Amino acid sequence: MRDVILSTLKNYDKDNICIATLGSHSALNILKGAKEEGFKTICICRDKERIIYESFGVADEIIPIKDYPDLLDEKLQSKLIDSNAILIPHGSFNAYIGSLDKLRIPIFGNRILMEWEVDRKKQKEWLEKAGVRLPKTYSNPEEIDGLAIVKFPGAKGGKGYFIVANKDDFYEKSRKMVENGLISKEEMENAFIQEYVFGVNIYFSFFYSYVLDRIELIAIDRRYESTVDALGKIPAEIQIKAEIMPTYTVVGNFPIVLRESLLSQALNAAKNIVDVSKEIAYPGMVGPFCIESVFDENAEMVVFEISARIVAGTNVGIPASPYSYILWGENMYMGRRIAREIKIAIEKELLDEVVY
Ligand code: AMP
Ligand code: AMP
Repeated sequence: MRDVILSTLKNYDKDNICIATLGSHSALNILKGAKEEGFKTICICRDKERIIYESFGVADEIIPIKDYPDLLDEKLQSKLIDSNAILIPHGSFNAYIGSLDKLRIPIFGNRILMEWEVDRKKQKEWLEKAGVRLPKTYSNPEEIDGLAIVKFPGAKGGKGYFIVANKDDFYEKSRKMVENGLISKEEMENAFIQEYVFGVNIYFSFFYSYVLDRIELIAIDRRYESTVDALGKIPAEIQIKAEIMPTYTVVGNFPIVLRESLLSQALNAAKNIVDVSKEIAYPGMVGPFCIESVFDENAEMVVFEISARIVAGTNVGIPASPYSYILWGENMYMGRRIAREIKIAIEKELLDEVVY
């Protein structure tokens, strides 16, 4: 696959590279950053979202599609290749396209690591090798020995997760959910059960730069989730009577500045995660990645997930986060950082190293 991509890239006019992405998730961030770095931009989007990208004027060209998987359409791919397009993958590539095997267009990043990201077993292996602290996983509901979170294979953006207090609570809640048709029996059997880490969520957005050979902390955020973030508005007694169960549907993000002494935990984790990425999937991490964590009562970091591409939480860092500003001394945010890396790679003739 890499050979195909590199031979496509060989025929590109490097003075006229264009940056393209699907219109959703963090496309405003990506396209604005590309424009600021002087690239031509293309937004491939559905009718429904067109208004977003038209309103902000970040796309030089808008290519309409019916639905996200149409990106794999041969004609569209050829058109994008003729435009010397480099695609920037984001959350919608994972959520709505899945396998990128049929995608011939060079992407910025490592498509193999994006597969490691969506496979929970592989992700766990990666994080374990990196030596970061993880929540316990229970391979069988019988093993549940405390507060646990139950996740389903198809769950998108935290929708459909639920928390259980103990083993008996798991059986009771899952039975109810199957009975109410909220989840199938088969899905319940394949549920991923994890220790629920009680603490505050911190999402670290890093950038691994091949051309500068360093890891950069670009922004930190937390999510705003419905309905879990609304629970505090309802007294506990009413929550119990109304049988309210929190959901984790993400509707936004807040920027965060971390207590400074805690940064070392995240920076060390990032370094180890990047080191391991090179062992498991050549050429290793390229560009943006996110470490999703909970800091517990002892301010210790527990990593519950990793994303091997830009996350939407980086949208809080436009035009700069405190961290990207300290590093760059200028406005810098994930979309722009990606474009800057591509620009430097073109100048140094290193483009082959940052696309896959
Ligand atoms: P959307 O274009 O909003 O449908 O988002 C595409 C995918 O990215 C979905 O799986 C969303 O759940 C996820 N997503 C979008 N925005 C965020 C966000 N702010 N935080 C986490 N996930 C997100
Ligand atoms: P995710 O979709 O995996 O990023 O997670 C969605 C939500 O579930 C986030 O608010 C997380 O904080 C929460 N979450 C996921 N796993 C855990 C865990 N092991 N402990 C505590 N909260 C978690």
